[in-house]
Amino acid sequence: MTSSVYIHIPFCRQKCYYCTFSSYPQLDLREKYLDGLLIEIEKRYLGEKIKTLYIGGGTPSLIGFEKIAEILSKFNLEENAEVTIEANPESTTNAWIKGVFDCGVNRLSFGVQSFDDKLLKQIGRKHTVKQAFDVILSARKIGFKNINVDLIYGLPMQTMSDVSASVITACELGVEHISSYGLKIEEGSKFFRERPKSLPDEDMQADMYLKLCEITEKYGYKHYEISNFAKNGFESKHNLNYWNAENYYGFGCGASGFEGQTRYTHENTIEKYLENPLNLTEKEILTKEVQLEETIFLGFRKADGIDVSAINKKFGTDFEKKYFEILKKYEKYLKKTENGYAFTNEGFLISNYILSDFAE
Ligand code: SF4
Repeated sequence: MTSSVYIHIPFCRQKCYYCTFSSYPQLDLREKYLDGLLIEIEKRYLGEKIKTLYIGGGTPSLIGFEKIAEILSKFNLEENAEVTIEANPESTTNAWIKGVFDCGVNRLSFGVQSFDDKLLKQIGRKHTVKQAFDVILSARKIGFKNINVDLIYGLPMQTMSDVSASVITACELGVEHISSYGLKIEEGSKFFRERPKSLPDEDMQADMYLKLCEITEKYGYKHYEISNFAKNGFESKHNLNYWNAENYYGFGCGASGFEGQTRYTHENTIEKYLENPLNLTEKEILTKEVQLEETIFLGFRKADGIDVSAINKKFGTDFEKKYFEILKKYEKYLKKTENGYAFTNEGFLISNYILSDFAE
């Protein structure tokens, strides 16, 4: 039973310098793309009750709210479904915010990244700090009670006090949720081709992360996942569904999904996607062993960590026996919880390293 939906809108006017997401500047293809997307939804969605729906990108705020309403109308949404849409400050108007609010979106996620104009420019973002303030305040006025901002740390020339200032600003704006990512220079990005000067090193990035954890905690946010902080009751239900290794539909160019035991992705370019929106590429049926590993990997992303008895029951295993050596080796980075094990903040910092030991 699949009760979560991800929909990808792959348009951005320009590429941010660090970006490797599926996003393209061919805005003239918007209409055709949305037609293809609606065909895919009509043919593949089986009509289940949907608890969480997430429209991400790219830049979904480049799509008119009437089209967003049309997309949402295709789903059988639960009364209290969490419906999120991502938006970038420079392409978000009051009319758009009001339009998406009226058609049932109840969570807005703004790609703010930093509250520092100089840094925004250096990473190729197209908005200003003022635009970010304006859209957040406008969303509040219109009635949004659940707002996320994305922040990035580890940017070129960024100092510890820059990070603190941005996090404090987000907290003082009173947003319900903060997602924060350490900059990674990935192949395919402009930063990969032209490596920027003055990148904070790994240790500095780790210190920035710990500072962020400290500030958000001081402001009453719960650090509920490696990179995510929420006021009580505002944890992202959609993302928790991923981290609980549950099923989800993925619709649109470049989107991945996980239905039954099968993980799939779609064609990564708009043209290829439009050739056949129903074509699911890279279909993989996950074995029990792979599902167990993923449940561990994803579960450890959460501050609550993994639920040992649920894992034992689902996979017919004895987790503590099977992973005894690993649990012992990393005991100072792990804490025992009511239901199992979780990382400490220091454990989160080296989580990739620790988790690679769980992979056989
Ligand atoms: S707005 Fe997001 S998806 Fe678009 S280019 Fe920037 S980082 Fe990439």
